[in-house]
Amino acid sequence: MSLVTLRVALARAEEGGYAVGAFNVSSLDQAIAVLDAAEVERSPVIVQSIAGMSAYADEERWWKRLRRIIDDYPSVPAVLHLDHGRTYEDCARAVDCGFSSVMIDASREADGDLPASFDDNVALTRRVVEMARPHGVSVEGELGTIGGAEAGIAGIAENIVFADPEQAALFVSRTGVDALAVAVGTSHGSVKFTDESGGQRLRIGLIAEIKERLPDTALVLHGSSSIPAEAVAVINAHGGDVRPSYGVSPEQKSEAIAHGIRKINQGTDSHLAWTAAMRRFLGENPAVVEPSALLAPAVDAFREMVATRMREFGSAGRA
Ligand SMILES: [Zn+2]
Repeated sequence: MSLVTLRVALARAEEGGYAVGAFNVSSLDQAIAVLDAAEVERSPVIVQSIAGMSAYADEERWWKRLRRIIDDYPSVPAVLHLDHGRTYEDCARAVDCGFSSVMIDASREADGDLPASFDDNVALTRRVVEMARPHGVSVEGELGTIGGAEAGIAGIAENIVFADPEQAALFVSRTGVDALAVAVGTSHGSVKFTDESGGQRLRIGLIAEIKERLPDTALVLHGSSSIPAEAVAVINAHGGDVRPSYGVSPEQKSEAIAHGIRKINQGTDSHLAWTAAMRRFLGENPAVVEPSALLAPAVDAFREMVATRMREFGSAGRA
């Protein structure tokens, strides 16, 4: 089984009524943690990387290593996905490195934070679909703009535009994307909502409306980490300074799945778990310099967070 396209993985999720978690990794240790979790949970998984966000200087070597590592897990149906490609070139490089799926995020203007016009978004997304399809690579597009610290954008973007169901149907028919990220009230990054109700404001009705018009397109939820308060507290108790905030609760995500979401991006939660475990270890063992000693708790915490999300999304036991 091993490497599969996003289209195949999400079509199975549609049949089974669950969602597949998409986990951002920036090092090989993190990719191993994600794939170990998938193997143990017998879950399909999406391993994703953002251009320019890894521990390594040579991105093509890093991406090709990510591709090869998936072959070590023959029992795991794994999608290797480019998250938030901002340019055609990013997507073409990922295809060359063997990714089975790319996201082209043309929902914002390439040089900034402003929402792109619908026609510009369609044009660039269509070009990427035409490039990727002959290689058997799936494409995810984005409609509307999702708030928060989106890739390459510092701080919290104010320009949140919700997805419009009619435009969504038009966007899919004009571009031919396999999956669509919809802005339905989530927010990117480690600081999401400053009040508890913020994460409860997912527009479930809007998801259902879009789903009704696009029964054959997989819908994707971005910016939907839960921001566990324990992890933030551990980080801040050991020298960190992460502003406490509220994310999207597991219950809200379950409801989103029930209304048609099939891919859930979960970058921040496992990053918080990793950082908390490493900071705690270093705080409690200030004399230790052995890398294996300080990496092991971080890898364990990353894997456990990913496994928890797989169970919550209903993908565990589906491989
Ligand atoms: Zn995103």
